[in-house]
Amino acid sequence: MIDIAPPLRLRLDAGALVANWRWLAAQGGSAACGAAIKANGYGLGAREVMHHLAAAGCRDFFVASWAEAAALMPLPAGVALSVLHGVGEADMVAARTLPVRPVLNSVEQVARWRAGGDARPCDVMVDTGMSRLGLRVEEALGGALDGLVIETLLSHLASADEDSAQNAQQLAAFGALREAIPARRYSLANSAGICLGADYAFDLTRPGIALYGGLPRADAAGQLRQVVFPEARVLQLRDVRAGETVGYGASWTAAADSRIAVTNLGYADGYLRCHAGHGGATWNGAALPLIGRVSMDLTAFDASGAGTLGEGDWLAIDYDLPTTATASGLSQYELLTGLGDRFERRWG
Ligand SMILES: *Cc1c(COP(=O)(O)O)cnc(C)c1O
Repeated sequence: MIDIAPPLRLRLDAGALVANWRWLAAQGGSAACGAAIKANGYGLGAREVMHHLAAAGCRDFFVASWAEAAALMPLPAGVALSVLHGVGEADMVAARTLPVRPVLNSVEQVARWRAGGDARPCDVMVDTGMSRLGLRVEEALGGALDGLVIETLLSHLASADEDSAQNAQQLAAFGALREAIPARRYSLANSAGICLGADYAFDLTRPGIALYGGLPRADAAGQLRQVVFPEARVLQLRDVRAGETVGYGASWTAAADSRIAVTNLGYADGYLRCHAGHGGATWNGAALPLIGRVSMDLTAFDASGAGTLGEGDWLAIDYDLPTTATASGLSQYELLTGLGDRFERRWG
């Protein structure tokens, strides 16, 4: 077998991931702190995220689909996994076979789960104002859940990242559900919800984005560490003269004689065209601004200030989530989940 080096690297800081989880756990007071690891752990690698967090004491994980759940078998000892999309007809075999709980989202899903005759506990999502997934409050209070063995009753906040009156409304609605519907645990807060205060934590919190270095609310500024560090390789260094242009559409013109580093990163890797105009990279402490357009698998940076940078060297791509999201117009979630599989994910 020939050994082929992966073209791109995603450096992943396990210490930062665990530190973020610990900080989020502390904000929730006595509530347990779980982890949303859907979409392949927001692009980092669900299996590795689960193992790092389980080793730190995290016991509750959430994925979207049964395919995501199956890919995580076998689970680490003592760990519980739930599938947020619940059970469709086609999911029942997986749901009965895997040691994983469905999060039932509708009267139809509840009926399907009951008909399956599985005596194991399930989770249930009740919609308290987002109108996305979950039973309606009236349905939940009207007997639809009677007799069901519920491990965790969940609801999800629609506007926790904003100072919206909807947060208190959902909190009150969830508090009322808790009085009326028996379950072993109650869970409302995602990352932003955790930052709204310990009232929102109930028995179990479900952070996602903040684990991975996203800033869920301005209140948490300075508390969360960057976890994901993309790196691209210099394919070619070239000198351009003042007045020459770089890339498709000739959108960048050299104001002075310049040195250009052409890297192997592009929009096919999830480094989208909206980074043009403000993206950048660093090498050995030098800043290299992105120049011209982002191509499918090539992006150029101005390396005029990067001294002895050579072909084959690795540039650290600027990817602090809050600032990159503001500059690019992409959400912090899109910045992570879009990163493609040409990146080798390297935990350190
Ligand atoms: C994705 C998700 C979370 C995590 O949300 P973040 O905003 O990433 O913290 C929590 N709960 C549910 C139901 C989710 O779908």
